[in-house]
Amino acid sequence: MVDYLIKGGLIYTMDRGRHVIEDGAVMVENDHIVAVGKSTEIERSYEAETVIEAAGKAVLPGFVNVHTHLPSIFVRGVYGVVREGLYQVLFPVKEYLKPEHCYVLGLASCAEALTSGSTTIQETYNYMDMFARAAEESGIRADLGEQIAEADYQAIKDGVYEYRSEQAEEMIKRAKSLKDKWDGAADGRLTVSWAPLAPDMCTPWVYEEVMKLHKPGEKVSTHVEQSRREVDQVRKLYGKTSVEHLKDMGVLGPDLIGAHCIFNSDKDLRLMKEADASVLHCPRPYLLGGATAPLARWIGMGIKVGLGTDNVNHTMWETMRAALYGARHRETLGELGSPSYYEVLELATIKGAEVMGVSDKVGSLEPGKKADLQLIDLKCPHIMPTADVTSSLVLYGGTVNVDTVMVNGRIVKQNGEITIMDVGKVLDEAQEITDEIWSGLFSDRPELRKLVKG
Ligand SMILES: [Zn+2]
Repeated sequence: MVDYLIKGGLIYTMDRGRHVIEDGAVMVENDHIVAVGKSTEIERSYEAETVIEAAGKAVLPGFVNVHTHLPSIFVRGVYGVVREGLYQVLFPVKEYLKPEHCYVLGLASCAEALTSGSTTIQETYNYMDMFARAAEESGIRADLGEQIAEADYQAIKDGVYEYRSEQAEEMIKRAKSLKDKWDGAADGRLTVSWAPLAPDMCTPWVYEEVMKLHKPGEKVSTHVEQSRREVDQVRKLYGKTSVEHLKDMGVLGPDLIGAHCIFNSDKDLRLMKEADASVLHCPRPYLLGGATAPLARWIGMGIKVGLGTDNVNHTMWETMRAALYGARHRETLGELGSPSYYEVLELATIKGAEVMGVSDKVGSLEPGKKADLQLIDLKCPHIMPTADVTSSLVLYGGTVNVDTVMVNGRIVKQNGEITIMDVGKVLDEAQEITDEIWSGLFSDRPELRKLVKG
């Protein structure tokens, strides 16, 4: 007897054959999928402990969100509101974050990820040990990297790069202990990789240390050409682009997953393609600031791309739309076409899994893969009626449609409600922490209050 039979749904397998099955079923046993097919055929072959009726619903793999800083949800209302928010506010405020904050902020942000259908995340931030506890409890699947930064978070606000090796050493220590403690934990749901922050925020010795620790197959996540300030600083120090610099340091390779890559030159793109490095595309915060990325070019060149939410808002529904809008805008400027609606869904699922190196486990609904999936309610006024479900999902779908979410064969959301934690209580605690962090910053630096509160 298997554990779950999900039947009667519109199954988006997101497999290589791009199979979409009407009146389809998915069978789940323990933590994995044992069968996918037509309901009539599957029902005949298996008996299940629990039957989930999926008529009127689409069944998708859980989203794979390739770039997050989940505990940074406390910057909502600031980041994306203040121009140049990254260097002006986001880095300075990190000084006021305490390790224990990352547990509660972690729970709150994992709730956001799960409720919007993301079952796998690639998370890099500080105090990841505390976040790992939250990820373990929340049931999410996560690859974690302790961010390593050498540039002083306060000095950077004024455009000054003050490199402090002792700060980076401390973070490298934390990264190592994260690896020892959490890699493979929670029945393999949690893994650990490496996360030097960015080529302007770390000098070459940090990357050298990371590459000494890195083993082939482990991802190295770093921000690449994410801002003009980074591009200028790297050019000033090393006389080249960030991608060229990463190549010369021996970091550019198949394990490199580079966040943003907004300011890539043509040569950078070629180098990334030759090295089989991947792009973590986070279109939403950039689009808000009026910038777009060459998504269609990356895809056209065969560079692996996944979608990430980055900061503040962690729904892949908005991210899919932002990716599409950005690519359409580029198309009007003469760039190669833009991805189809189905391709956008692929970016949010199987392509993201490929970027993270976990496509043998997640990203599609196929026998043998982990049971990470979501049921999407189609019977709602913003989707039904429709002549085409795929485009309607991408254009109009949202968290409100995510009825059920399963990770590793365990239901974490059902009938539209998170079942794995008391979300109301967690959000109250997260708000208290957020108030504490900002009042700390504002009392020390009143000029920032003006900047933030206008
Ligand atoms: Zn980032």
